[in-house]
Amino acid sequence: MANYTGPSCRECRREGCKLFLKGERCLSTKCSFDHRSAAPGQHGAARKKVGEYGMQLREKQKVRRYYGVLENQFKNYYEMAERKAGMTGENLLILLERRLDNVVYRMGLAESRKEARQLVLHAHFTLNGKKVNIPSLLVKPGDVITVKEKSRESAKFKALAEEMASVNKPKWMDANNEQLTARIVAMPERSDIDFEINEQLIVELYSK
Ligand code: SF4
Repeated sequence: MANYTGPSCRECRREGCKLFLKGERCLSTKCSFDHRSAAPGQHGAARKKVGEYGMQLREKQKVRRYYGVLENQFKNYYEMAERKAGMTGENLLILLERRLDNVVYRMGLAESRKEARQLVLHAHFTLNGKKVNIPSLLVKPGDVITVKEKSRESAKFKALAEEMASVNKPKWMDANNEQLTARIVAMPERSDIDFEINEQLIVELYSK
């Protein structure tokens, strides 16, 4: 399945909630969901009764879109989560949080996960001193993510240093705003994810 390339705001309307896919705009009065939240399409505004399966499917799509992950990738994460000890739903969310593009976003170096993904793809970062360009790479405690020396000198990243300082970081990373770097100090926990998610619905969907 190809990447969704349509308007991001349409994804919010489809899922019936703000997915924060466009950075600053999402927090401003320009957020289109605040003006028009009905689902897209001719009959989007019509009230529809959503059954159990529909709710499970929507929750999965919501989380998948929030993290910007393709259908097959998402299924793979679910299978990985299932193989781990503990609660599958929580494991799934923690795996998604550990993605390198999410980490770059959480560091405050990108306005959205989509932008973070682009920055990673363009090889602006090193992981433990080595160049890296795989957005799906999973970080672990002890890893150090840094903006590449050459990229750090660019006007874009110089401006980002200020941005980074203004963003609250999760407690599982120790960030240095001047150095544009972060060390992963612990695994993310479920309580670190402040987006409203009912992961149990996703577990029920995949358990059918
Ligand atoms: Fe969603 Fe609003 Fe952001 Fe558009 S601006 S992506 S509708 S939260």
